[in-house]
Amino acid sequence: MKFINTYSHLGDTFYHKNNPTPVDNPALFLWNETLAEQLQIPSELSHDKHALAQYFSGNQLLPGSEPISMAYSGHQFGHFSPQLGDGRAHLLGDVLDKSGNRWDIQLKGSGRSAFSRNGDGRCAFGPAIREFIMSEAMCALGIPTTRSLAVVTTGEQVHRETSLPGAIVTRVASSHLRVGTFQYFSAQANTQAIKTLCDFAIQRHYPGCLVDKVDPYVMLLDSIIEKQIELIVQWLRIGFIHGVMNTDNMAISGETIDYGPCAMMGTYNPQTVYSSIDKQGRYAFMQQPVIAQWNIARLAECILPLIDSDNNKAIGKLQPLIEEFPNRFNLAYTKMMAKKIGITNVEAEDQTLINSLLDTLKTQELDYTISFNALTQSLDSVDSPNIQAEKKQPDALNQWIDNWHQRLNKQAISHQQAQQLMTQQNPVVIPRNHHVEAVIQQCQQTNNPVAAEKFIRVLKSPYQLLADTSEYQDQARDRDQCYQTFCGT
Ligand code: AMP
Ligand code: MG
Repeated sequence: MKFINTYSHLGDTFYHKNNPTPVDNPALFLWNETLAEQLQIPSELSHDKHALAQYFSGNQLLPGSEPISMAYSGHQFGHFSPQLGDGRAHLLGDVLDKSGNRWDIQLKGSGRSAFSRNGDGRCAFGPAIREFIMSEAMCALGIPTTRSLAVVTTGEQVHRETSLPGAIVTRVASSHLRVGTFQYFSAQANTQAIKTLCDFAIQRHYPGCLVDKVDPYVMLLDSIIEKQIELIVQWLRIGFIHGVMNTDNMAISGETIDYGPCAMMGTYNPQTVYSSIDKQGRYAFMQQPVIAQWNIARLAECILPLIDSDNNKAIGKLQPLIEEFPNRFNLAYTKMMAKKIGITNVEAEDQTLINSLLDTLKTQELDYTISFNALTQSLDSVDSPNIQAEKKQPDALNQWIDNWHQRLNKQAISHQQAQQLMTQQNPVVIPRNHHVEAVIQQCQQTNNPVAAEKFIRVLKSPYQLLADTSEYQDQARDRDQCYQTFCGT
């Protein structure tokens, strides 16, 4: 593992240099062996639990690592905070994996920094396990995401509403550049720093912007928009609700980042919100594309000075990109939803077919994942669709199913091929909220990772029924009506 520390080379206005604060009694709780191999972590180290606990608690520094806490701002629920930054995280540096891809390695919960404000710099055990489970599940579902390498318990208590055991999670990301990173320098009118960040982003994520050198920063915004649209479309495919899409929690790489109050939608309802602090539903399930556009508009404002010294001209170049976001999103969304029902070549009327299915799911209060699975399986035998199990008002869905079959019959592909397509889009298992909570509770009560490891094994094959899958497929008894998530502070 060879650290390169690319971000520290940008200059000290971009971060605060400081080491993690050692903890009392670090112990390795979860370790991602596959990811460790990909990151070329030597096998002797990967099997040395004691050494891993030392390194991934921050008690000992990995050779070559130069820990920093990154500076950023952010709009939190629409309100701008000029000074956020990594208040409890340390970027250890970046490394190249087996395939030559570059990854940031970051400890979260590793102590205070210049950005901690009133925070203790620590993370509780529950949220650390949650981040590990959720990010690894998302990765297996095929959603761009940061990864989790390790959870190490600290042997210390953290004080929230009650006293809780502490832990440190190691996050692996293709970068930690957020919309808020650009906002930090924009708030200081530091155009040079914004240019440095944009060049860094182009080099790391979007080298295509340099191909034809006309307006690379317009192209950068365009590329970020494309990636963000792809990301949100994928969230909507599997029912993911991020929960706190503040601009500091949006990575410009297009990876899902910051698994705080996130949750999975059970019963289909576009207004679904689980986060206890999202009183207005700003980050509700179907608000996510709207918020992504809003956040991207904030990013566009930051890069205006790089586009043209005449602000009006600069706006003239970027505004069309922001304005076309909804249309671009809808095209990508419809294409994805069409695949969920086995349609490969989207036609204009398919929008109506999709909407009428979603309306039915909503009015009949059907589970999103179970329903799409039942539809997939129903193609086994077109005459006896086993969607029956989920129906409350059979007639409504029967009518829809008739229309759907007529539509499928118009395609060049067989029902079997359509079913194959659907199988790849519709997971048989997702990290359902009540199972995530139950697993976390078991881990906390026993201080034993087996419950998490078993759950993660199943979540690693979300499109395939394994022997244990059925244990995790059920809806919560209260259909998550009382479920609430909290920021992991
Ligand atoms: P988050 O809600 O995790 O996105 O965090 C928002 C901001 O609060 C970021 O600047 C975090 O670094 C900071 N923060 C969250 N929890 C803590 C903590 N326990 N100690 C210090 N800073 C924190
Ligand atoms: Mg955050």
